Amino acid sequence: PMATEWATSRIRTVPDFPKAGIQFRDITTLLADARGFRKAVDELVQPYVGVAIDKVAGIEARGFILGGAIAHQLACGFIPIRKPGKLPYRTISQSYQLEYGEDCLQIHEDAIRSGDLVLLTDDLIATGGTAEAAVKLIRQAGGTVVAACFVIDLPDLGGAQKIRDMGIEVISLCHFD
Ligand code: 5GP
Repeated sequence: PMATEWATSRIRTVPDFPKAGIQFRDITTLLADARGFRKAVDELVQPYVGVAIDKVAGIEARGFILGGAIAHQLACGFIPIRKPGKLPYRTISQSYQLEYGEDCLQIHEDAIRSGDLVLLTDDLIATGGTAEAAVKLIRQAGGTVVAACFVIDLPDLGGAQKIRDMGIEVISLCHFD
């Protein structure tokens, strides 16, 4: 197995955030580290060098940081996937279930051209509910999700498997059990 200590050692774990019992994996410490940020982006990009990708889609908000850097390196366009009410033009929406209640993601209706090949990114995949909603949005807009990439996978929560079951390659740099 690939050594991932360079990543896990730069990720801070914050107990009881945003609520009691949650161990929040904080990537701001990785992003603030010059070598860590560069290596994270390099490793996320590496499988897709020379692969036909039209757009990188990043999920608000940490997916913007990674997605912008990935898109720049792949010489692709970047698309923000946002929480409701943030995008100024006409949008497509996809709601999804949370542990308690419901949330929603949006993209601009013209952000993706029919047939676009899209690389999706976010900092972390847990249950996969957020990434699944993002995939549905991209597909609604006529795009094909080539792969989804994350800094962190929480495999016990099954999200990466759920996205693989949608026919999408999933890559992550490290995992926490
Ligand atoms: P999921 O929808 O897969 O259950 O949760 C993933 C989403 O929640 C991602 O957008 C991710 O940014 C956020 N998230 C959930 N838990 C954590 C965490 O421990 N650390 C970070 N950085 N993000 C988290």
